[in-house]
Amino acid sequence: MADIIAEIAGALGADLVLAGDDLASYARDADGPVQAPLGLVRPRTTGEVAAVLRMAHAAGASVVPWGGRTGLVDGTAARGSIALSLERMNAIEDIDPRASTMRVQAGAIVQTACEAAAKQGLFLPLDFGARGSATIGGAISTNAGGNHVIRYGMMRDMVLGVEAVLANGEIVDCLRPLIKNNTGYDLKQLFIGSEGTLGVVTRALLRLRPLPSSQDVALVGAASFADVVSLLRLLERELGGALSAFEVMWPDFFQLVTSAPAKGASPLQGQHAFYVLVEALGYREAVDAPLFADVLEQALTSGLIEDAVIAKSKAERTALWALRDDVMQLGRLGPIVAFDVSLQIDDMEAYVARTHRALQERWPNASLVVFGHLGDGNLHLIAGVGDRGADHAIEDIVYGGLAGINGSISAEHGIGLRKRAYLHLSRSPTEIALMRSIKTALDPKGVLNPGKVIPP
Ligand code: ZN
Repeated sequence: MADIIAEIAGALGADLVLAGDDLASYARDADGPVQAPLGLVRPRTTGEVAAVLRMAHAAGASVVPWGGRTGLVDGTAARGSIALSLERMNAIEDIDPRASTMRVQAGAIVQTACEAAAKQGLFLPLDFGARGSATIGGAISTNAGGNHVIRYGMMRDMVLGVEAVLANGEIVDCLRPLIKNNTGYDLKQLFIGSEGTLGVVTRALLRLRPLPSSQDVALVGAASFADVVSLLRLLERELGGALSAFEVMWPDFFQLVTSAPAKGASPLQGQHAFYVLVEALGYREAVDAPLFADVLEQALTSGLIEDAVIAKSKAERTALWALRDDVMQLGRLGPIVAFDVSLQIDDMEAYVARTHRALQERWPNASLVVFGHLGDGNLHLIAGVGDRGADHAIEDIVYGGLAGINGSISAEHGIGLRKRAYLHLSRSPTEIALMRSIKTALDPKGVLNPGKVIPP
């Protein structure tokens, strides 16, 4: 056992620490051998997190915070570091219906927090694929996005306050229940989306919304990208702010999720150039459903869309969402590289076509499957060229096309280790230098999640 792990076990109790073979159940392919971290420390309180960081800081040992480890950018790779899991700090401490807030420990599972809010008639609008194993702390440190960003914003927009522990073990308490607080720098933002490089989030105060009582879902076929954009603007206006998802699927994606061995089938007549899953959440079912149908009818009669099917039951709503969520089918493309880029809507169609062309020039059989949260300017591109060793060459093409159009190499997954080398395509040298100054100010020894986000 490494000295620092033995020291932590000695000071805080042996049951706080796992090392060697005891780490087997934490094995994940992406992290390499399970022995990669020096050891895994599982504190039960913020005080213990602080003590671990203090000891590690004094010893010059690096610490990598672990949430649910569902990220996609190697942000929790911990070879040679102490892995600090927040899994035991998973309490939902308080839900205040009058204030519409939840105070929660960082290790709580996202879905558990959402269900706890729902029991009180409240809504934590965090909705992304890994919600069943991702943690609140992980969602905060990666500023998670997902399917409802168009209406409720990203994780950042749900956080009223955080408690975090700095690299040297100092506890920063910004858990104030205030929506508006212009008293200098908004320090909690340092810990949101910084991927555990500036502090370890231990608790959060989240802003909740009233739990919607109506959900209307439709699948739409459209003839052109311009029509898809017009539909988005029509729905934003006519649904009076109730639009909660606008998920666009390019035909290659739709084909994959509606053909065997996929379980889903298209409920629409014929083929379309684009498919859109539309959802509205509301509070007056008797009014919301007719309005939703009416607006889509208007889109159909004006020729803006070619076909639409509106779900008539909970089962049908689930079935429509299951098409969009059946990303397992992407495995049929062979080895793939997945992207979460951001760009302006007006640039999307040309960027996708240009990227597909560039991939096919290099690999004639290359496939590029596209879907995404169009209202947020966020596309998921899935590239497969039939070659497992081509990741970097594919990344060069996909990311390279974003630099000239002010796009972002990450809309929601973050940077981690995986995208570090491309950060300069989305951030200016001045911005990267400023990030480095902030990192140095908060973690001068560079012991907190070292090597992540900022290129060396
Ligand atoms: Zn997404």
